[in-house]
Amino acid sequence: MTKAFEAIVVGARCAGAPTAMLLARKGYRVLLVDRATFPSDTVSTHLVHPLGVRALAEWGLLERLAATGCPPIHTYRFDFGAFTISGWPGTDDAPVAFCPRRTILDKLLVDAAAEAGAEVREGFAVDEILIDDGRVVGIKGRSKEGSSSIERADVVVGADGRQSAVAKAVRAEQYDEKPPLLAAYYTYWSGLPMDGRFENYIRDSRGFAVMPTHDELTLIIAGWPYAEFEDNKKDIEGNYLKTIELAPSFADRLRGAKREARFVGAAVPNYFRKPNGRGWVLVGDAGYNRDFITAQGIMDAFHDAELCAAALDNSFSGARRFEDAMADYQRTRDGRVKAMYDFTCQLATLEPPPPEMQQLFAAVHGKQKAMDGFARMNAGTISPAAFFAPENVNAIMAA
Ligand SMILES: Cc1cc2nc3c(=O)[nH]c(=O)nc-3n(C[C@H](O)[C@H](O)[C@H](O)COP(=O)(O)OP(=O)(O)OC[C@H]3O[C@@H](n4cnc5c(N)ncnc54)[C@H](O)[C@@H]3O)c2cc1C
Repeated sequence: MTKAFEAIVVGARCAGAPTAMLLARKGYRVLLVDRATFPSDTVSTHLVHPLGVRALAEWGLLERLAATGCPPIHTYRFDFGAFTISGWPGTDDAPVAFCPRRTILDKLLVDAAAEAGAEVREGFAVDEILIDDGRVVGIKGRSKEGSSSIERADVVVGADGRQSAVAKAVRAEQYDEKPPLLAAYYTYWSGLPMDGRFENYIRDSRGFAVMPTHDELTLIIAGWPYAEFEDNKKDIEGNYLKTIELAPSFADRLRGAKREARFVGAAVPNYFRKPNGRGWVLVGDAGYNRDFITAQGIMDAFHDAELCAAALDNSFSGARRFEDAMADYQRTRDGRVKAMYDFTCQLATLEPPPPEMQQLFAAVHGKQKAMDGFARMNAGTISPAAFFAPENVNAIMAA
């Protein structure tokens, strides 16, 4: 029996929509489904680091994003209280970051998948992953109007986020797991100009980050250790503002601003999942999640989409066995993110860094090349493994 689709992608945001788009651009028959309709928001702040922006440029979508009036971000600033590190996170071919509202970014990605030829079904909830003799063969789902349907494909791609139904159905193996480490809340402010800067304030057991987004609004996210989650939930606004008061000069700036939205909060677990098996693949948060403190998720989802679509193309075209192409996908994904995963999990504890790291950061302060390196490392432009490599550390300490 001819299957209607080579791939069904469940989840149509940062991981799923680009995966569907890239496969459809290669001529494959793709069904992209999401229970959400677009535009719609999701619980996430939305800094897209320069290499994520570069992916949008390579896909021909950056001009569309720039046309939405999203302000570019050219500087990342880290205020440790005793000193500040301020640097350029980008590269010559990916000079800036953006912080687009998910209502705008995700809609743009879904539209691009449809334009590429993917069949897009919004408001379609997947209830069941169909498995035949140990192999995933399709999905059963429901439209918003309540009509149920079954669709079959060679491969079902789980791009369905942390609670992935695909990962659950196939019991995807989890490894290198860590529990939630940080609890954070964010909201949007008007009257708080940022002039192209993403600012971070790091204090004892507390931190907050500030970034400009659409509509001349500025997003501030503030967090504390997960152990305080339950207690601090009783007074979210009070704890959020107390955290900001730990940086008095910024708190002064905030006094002239107005809060424009309600508080949204989250705490997330950290894990890798084996991203493939017979008839299935995982991309984005469905396959790998790290705390949001380093804002890597959207860029990682874009990288996954590229790697996964290339691996599926190799397999569909007969160039490589599915298992081999997918083993490479997993190896490349894990190799690229592992050092950042460990760095992220350490930061998310909000514990003071070890003394030698504190000395290094103090030495970085004031040296522009080292500060750019620090900003690039936090942006995921270079790996923490490269930044903390002995030759780089020695060069910074000696300078
Ligand atoms: C508080 C917070 C702040 C963050 N800040 C940043 C940041 O600043 N920068 C950054 O890069 N990342 C950030 N992240 C991470 C980022 O949100 C994720 O990494 C990113 O959204 C992953 O995209 P995704 O497509 O894998 O999954 P998601 O965005 O979770 O999308 C999954 C989609 O699957 C759909 N779906 C799920 N189940 C089904 C089903 N059964 N049937 C149909 N559809 C289904 C959902 O409706 C959803 O639309 C943050 C996360 C949090 C929680």
